[in-house]
Amino acid sequence: MAQMIINGERVGATSGATMEVRNPATGDVVDTVPRADASDTQRAIQAAADAFASWSKLAAHKRAHILMQATACVRAKLEDVAALLTSEQGKPIRDSRIEAERFADNIEIYAGLIAGGALSGRHVPLPSQKAMGLVVRRPIGVVGAIIPWNFPLTLMANKIAPAMAVGNTVVVKPASTTPLATLRLAELMLEGGLPPGVLNVVTGPGGVVGEELIRHPLVRKIGFTGETGTGKQVARSAAEELKHVTLELGGSDAAIVCDDADLDLAAKNVAIGRFFNAGQACLAIKRVYVFEGVADEFIDKVAARAKRLKLGSGTDTSAQMGPLHTDKQRAEIESQLADAVERGGRVVAGGLRPSGSQFDKGYFFEPTVVVDVPEGARVWTEETFGPLLPIMRVHDLDEALEKANSSEFGLGSSIFTRDMGKAQRAIDELEAGYTWVNAVQIAHDELPFGGTKHSGYGKEHGTEVLDYYTEQKSVVIASG
Ligand code: NDP
Repeated sequence: MAQMIINGERVGATSGATMEVRNPATGDVVDTVPRADASDTQRAIQAAADAFASWSKLAAHKRAHILMQATACVRAKLEDVAALLTSEQGKPIRDSRIEAERFADNIEIYAGLIAGGALSGRHVPLPSQKAMGLVVRRPIGVVGAIIPWNFPLTLMANKIAPAMAVGNTVVVKPASTTPLATLRLAELMLEGGLPPGVLNVVTGPGGVVGEELIRHPLVRKIGFTGETGTGKQVARSAAEELKHVTLELGGSDAAIVCDDADLDLAAKNVAIGRFFNAGQACLAIKRVYVFEGVADEFIDKVAARAKRLKLGSGTDTSAQMGPLHTDKQRAEIESQLADAVERGGRVVAGGLRPSGSQFDKGYFFEPTVVVDVPEGARVWTEETFGPLLPIMRVHDLDEALEKANSSEFGLGSSIFTRDMGKAQRAIDELEAGYTWVNAVQIAHDELPFGGTKHSGYGKEHGTEVLDYYTEQKSVVIASG
């Protein structure tokens, strides 16, 4: 049985309770983990609080050195971590390898930034000749990191890499269905020399472990990624203690395909943007608005790509798309598709559970493209968290922008055009935290990432994230 990591030790829940982790491709139990309660969570928080004093006082380059060494230990076992991730999450092994690698990259990026002085403040001249002003930046304290199941490792890294680099200590709460690779990574970082208490992992239900992290006064910052509804609950609970909160929530990213676009490029990038990770990504193209004149050609190209994708268990090295993570997740996609079809939508690719004995036990669903779905259908108004892509025909850019913005979400957005004027309008007018122009919709570590509207607030990635894991203090030094 896997164990939690608290204060550098592998421990079970005080109650002895456990939870099963199942493989989405087979339904088999992969392992069990402790089912922690509030008292276990408090132990982890106290361990992080105790470790904060020495970790935050280390010279930045020494902290960076420790993080680099710990990451070297992770790098030596990336293959094990990737295999665990595939077994609990379901994604193809090649995608798990990329994700495990990105975890290591992220820790190194922020260790490097900190060693290079990224935490420096600034000098501010004051009107008085006898006083000078400074702005200094300090770590916040104990950080609670609450992580979903779709990208368990990268979404954890987005939080713990900058948090630990600037001197905070962390308690991670992984999703209940994907704790295994996370626990392994924490173990490896400990083996690689990360001091006890700097990184703790507590497994258990969100309503218990997550809530305790959010309410406990010693936790000064919550980094949360998950559904918009859960995010609102997190914000409400965190308000009681006036905690710093970063909320990375749901999305319904629109892509606009103009009549001057390179349609092959657009179809390729839309298909990647929708079907990567079986469509279970916050940043994913979930609605397409294509200009009428090129609509038929574009739809044919996307549908052809959807039909070509090879489904399979994550351990099948030729698989391009794995199962959905849970039966509930698949049922939700099926019900959103049924709603679209009832309202007149026409399925041009996929639409079914794949046939074949290899798909019998897993939560597989075909990459699906649906057209002629009227406005108001659930695929336009809700987040579709699976391989389901609705495409709507529009007359011009005005209509496309208006429809793209008619969503409560504001995470990502894309436009495909050769006309820089149209691209400029999209950049200026799309209500989203990210706009890709003719580009594949992936988040780059170098650029800040975060949503607007109901997609949340705060930034991850880039150097901007450092502002969300530090506090600024103004200092006046008078010379007499
Ligand atoms: P959930 O909101 O259900 O869960 C996310 C995490 O929160 C899990 O660890 C969960 O624990 C925990 N949690 C659940 N209830 C509470 C609570 N009351 N208090 C504190 N923590 C709680 O999201 P999913 O796991 O279903 O993830 C999918 C969602 O995440 C999608 O909406 C997706 O768009 C969004 N997402 C956003 C991203 C972004 O960066 N904007 C990136 C990736 C995903 P448990 O597992 O035990 O329930």
